This record gives sequence, C-alpha cells and structure tokens, in this order.
Amino acid sequence: MYRGRFAPSPTGPLHFGSLVAAVGSYLQARSHGGEWLVRMEDIDPPREMKGAADDILRTLEAFGFEWDGELLYQRSRSEAYRDALNQLDHANTLYGCVCSRKEIADSSSAGIEGPVYPGICRRTPINASGVRAWRVRTEGAHIHFEDRWQGVVERDIARDFGDFVVRRADGLFAYQLAVAVDDAAQGITEVVRGADLLESTPRQIHLQQLLGVPTPDYAHLPVVLNERGEKLSKQTYAAPVDRIDPLPALFAAAVFLGHTPPPEMRDGDIESFWRWSIEAWNPERVPRKRGLPATTGARAA
Ligand code: GLU
Repeated sequence: MYRGRFAPSPTGPLHFGSLVAAVGSYLQARSHGGEWLVRMEDIDPPREMKGAADDILRTLEAFGFEWDGELLYQRSRSEAYRDALNQLDHANTLYGCVCSRKEIADSSSAGIEGPVYPGICRRTPINASGVRAWRVRTEGAHIHFEDRWQGVVERDIARDFGDFVVRRADGLFAYQLAVAVDDAAQGITEVVRGADLLESTPRQIHLQQLLGVPTPDYAHLPVVLNERGEKLSKQTYAAPVDRIDPLPALFAAAVFLGHTPPPEMRDGDIESFWRWSIEAWNPERVPRKRGLPATTGARAA
C-alpha cells in the first residue's frame, strides 16, 4: 500500500512553491491508488505565523485536495519525540553539548549545510547541568539512497554534516528528529517533497537506522525559482496562491511538473483538473532538476 504525505510548516500562507510540492505528492499518491496524509509541522513556534496553519488547510481544501485520516499536528507529538531521544540515549548514540554558538563557529569546518561540529563534547564527559543542545553521534555513518528524480546520493554524515542537533538549545525538538519519527509513525512509504530538503534526507535516514524504523523511498521535486534564481519562500516574499481562483495555479503546477493539461481545461472546474491529472500523471515527465524557474503560466498564476 502506497502512503504519501504533505508536511507544511505554518510559517506563512501557501505559495506556488509549496503548492507544487503538494500537487506532486498528491498525484504520486493518488495515481498509485494510495493514501495521502497532511501533517502540520508546527514544532518551531518562533518561526511560525499566527493563523498560517488554518490558512494553509483552508487553501488545500479550496484547491480540492482530499487528505486521508486525521491531520497530525507535530505540537501534539512531544511524547513520541521524547521517547525517540530516550531510545537514542539508551543506545549511547546521543550526547549533551555545552558549546556556545561562538565556540561552535570558531571550531567548526564548513559542511554541506552549515558548520560541521567537531565533536568536542563527544570526547569530553560533561556536567549535565550545562547541557544546551543534544546531538546524535555520526561517526562511521555512510548513507546511500537513490532518489526517484535526483538520482544517487551518497553522504558521509560525520564529514558532511557532523554530529547534528536533535534537541535544540531552546528546548525544541529538531526538524530532522520530528520528521524521522513521524514518517515512521505514519507508515509513509514514499516521501515526495522539494529538492531543498534533499540534503536533510541522509540525516533522516541515519536517525531511522538508529531508531530501527524503515526507510521510505524518496522523491525530491525540483524547487520553484524566482527571476533572481532564488527558491520561492516566505523569505523571498513569494505571493500566496489565490484560493478564490485555484485553477490557474493548479494548471501552472502541472506544467511545472512536466505535464500539459488540455487548454480547454483552463475554463473547467477543479474536479475535472484532478480527474485528468491523476489519470495523466507520469513521474517520468517530472524534470530531473534541483530547481527550475517558474513557467510563464506559473507567473501568471
Ligand atoms: N515542513 C517542511 C517544510 O515546509 C517540509 C518537511 C518535509 O516535507 O519533510 O519545508
């Protein structure tokens, strides 16, 4: 049984970039006759925007997405994340880190996504009261996976990322931990999301292996770039999609993903759009790129 998911963070309204991830994961799930779940990734209150979670859900509904089962809110999952940390701790793969931001910046080398922590606190027994963040051990972790669209990815976690944080200095659970725990708990068989998260995948697989849970398949879609070649995001002021008139944006998302809906469908309804797209969806048509500029159609949407 195929089970996919869409996992937005409520940091702002749905924009065209996040719509593409929703459409890609939805069509992949529905064309397999599978389930599609929505998980609200609200574990980082400082980054969240008030009302964004409800706004995203109302937009998904207006666009005709139908999700299976209950919505999962990550803010209700602290116990599961705590259990996972305990499990890592019992397996001696977790350690407390007392280093300050400055100490880390001064002692780290550059990795694929930011500084590679040199493991100071892994080697020095520390006094538990000074612990700021909790890190997972990574020595010897070589992760290899084949992404449906991005091809083979091989990473040496210790060299490329270092011992990474699973519980932050502010007490919040880290994204990598929450996603690894929830994808397993929800029985996700394939993760379809934007290629901006491709480099998170090796860390998530490392956590799955430490926690003894299955690794789903991975399929990273090209991300939508603006005229300046930047990923559409709240930080680059991407415009929200229009929930009063969803069809142009849905149409543009299908085109971005390599599909060509018949022109007369522009004047149709969203039900016929979804019927056509689920039938016509062919993952082979999705461009095998990390990022692509929005098409003319997408800009118009
Ligand atoms: N919540 C993440 C985001 O909105 C996506 C997480 C995921 O799909 O794994 O960027």
